[in-house]
Amino acid sequence: MTEIVECVKHEEQEATFVCQHLVACLHSGEPVGFYFSGEPRGDAWCSACEETRIREGGSSGDWNERSEAFAGISLLCGACYDSVRSLHGL
Ligand SMILES: [Zn+2]
Ligand SMILES: [Zn+2]
Repeated sequence: MTEIVECVKHEEQEATFVCQHLVACLHSGEPVGFYFSGEPRGDAWCSACEETRIREGGSSGDWNERSEAFAGISLLCGACYDSVRSLHGL
C-alpha cells in the first residue's frame, strides 16, 4: 500500500524516504550523491551516508543504529524525490 504525503508544493503525493542530506539539497540545489534501494522511488541516501553505511555495516553493508542516525531518514513527497533525483542526473 502506498502512503500519501501532503506536500506544500505538490499537494497529495506518494510518500518516499530519503536521508536528511538529500532533503537539504532540495533547498540548496547542490548535488550530494544519490544512492537508492532499486525500486522506483525506493529509499534514497547521499554519498556521505553511503560511506557511513559501508563503514558501519562491513561486508553485508547493513544499516545499523549509527548509520541510520547519521542518515536521519525523512519523509519526502514523490515529486520532490523526483527533483532530487534529477538534480543528480538520474
Ligand atoms: Zn545523507
Ligand atoms: Zn513535493
